[in-house]
Amino acid sequence: MAKQEERLYTLPGNINEEFVAGVRKILTAKRVLIAEPMKNHTTFKIGGPVDYLLFPTSLAEVQAVVRLLKDYAIPYVILGNGSNVLVLDKGVRGAIINFQEGFAGIRREGNHLLAEAGALLKDVAGFAAAEGLSGLEFAVGIPGSIGGAVFMNAGAYGGEMKDVVSAVRSVSPDGEVTRLEAEELGLGYRRSVFQENEHVICEVELSLKPGNKEDIVAQMADFTQRRENKQPLEMPSAGSTFKRPKGYYAGTLIDQTGLKGFRVGGAQVSEKHAGFVVNAGGATAADVLALIDEVQKRVYDAHGVKLYPEVRIIGSR
Ligand SMILES: Cc1cc2nc3c(=O)[nH]c(=O)nc-3n(C[C@H](O)[C@H](O)[C@H](O)COP(=O)(O)OP(=O)(O)OC[C@H]3O[C@@H](n4cnc5c(N)ncnc54)[C@H](O)[C@@H]3O)c2cc1C
Repeated sequence: MAKQEERLYTLPGNINEEFVAGVRKILTAKRVLIAEPMKNHTTFKIGGPVDYLLFPTSLAEVQAVVRLLKDYAIPYVILGNGSNVLVLDKGVRGAIINFQEGFAGIRREGNHLLAEAGALLKDVAGFAAAEGLSGLEFAVGIPGSIGGAVFMNAGAYGGEMKDVVSAVRSVSPDGEVTRLEAEELGLGYRRSVFQENEHVICEVELSLKPGNKEDIVAQMADFTQRRENKQPLEMPSAGSTFKRPKGYYAGTLIDQTGLKGFRVGGAQVSEKHAGFVVNAGGATAADVLALIDEVQKRVYDAHGVKLYPEVRIIGSR
């Protein structure tokens, strides 16, 4: 029996073979993985198996996949580049629609860029710089996809996606294509309407301004240098673990509570930047959750400030 099939039959009754046959017709067998460990697809390098990991590479494929998932009543979540998620150890029952394999085109129309959901921010920012378009300098070191960046309203160094996104094309849970304009996106601090409406973000329109290419490149280099100096980029993580509490910085509070280097199993508060939980080797999601819990308690006891995770938790408990 082939390895793939063996896995298929050892899963606890989750796999619907008829669905698998149907989704393979849309995506081809190569872009449908069964019981795939999510630690292979997250920057934290943590996460149990998802029943179906699906890689659409066009809007039409997203539509067809979403409709098929609905027909089979299979729940799904979306993954961009997996840089802001903690996938739980038991994995995910249902499907993950993943944009790590293509669906990453970028094109220019006047002072707008149109980027497909899977395009990495660094590539979109690089494209903008090469075209002499300014506005995305802040995004150069954020290791996410443009879709994930809109979902999170990602930001850094005083800039955020809200400043540059002018519209988004998405696919609704019914499989309909929708265009939402900037004012309909509900963008706020690490917030967007997509956290409620369950749409799949497929294409992002950015409104940029003509700028001096050398200045843009120099600004990006400066931001990259500052990031390398401060952040534990050499270790697996999901970036800042907690949202910024009003009037404070999470990292400073954690540091002041004496928690730099604090460890639960393989999960550790980074020695370099206390705002990051890192996978110091073999961390499980349970380690990370226990660490988050302890940090929240101790920071609250010491400072009376509640910390809330910025990292999105995905999967079955
Ligand atoms: C070293 C490091 C540094 C970081 N620095 C920053 C920083 O400076 N600023 C910052 O804001 N963040 C930062 N992050 C966090 C992260 O990179 C951002 O939140 C990024 O925008 C997430 O994009 P992603 O594609 O990886 O999303 P994922 O992690 O794949 O997903 C995040 C959320 O978005 C949803 N999602 C993703 N794609 C789509 C889509 N196409 N349609 C609908 N929903 C979708 C997912 O379901 C999930 O809930 C950092 C992370 C790391 C590891």
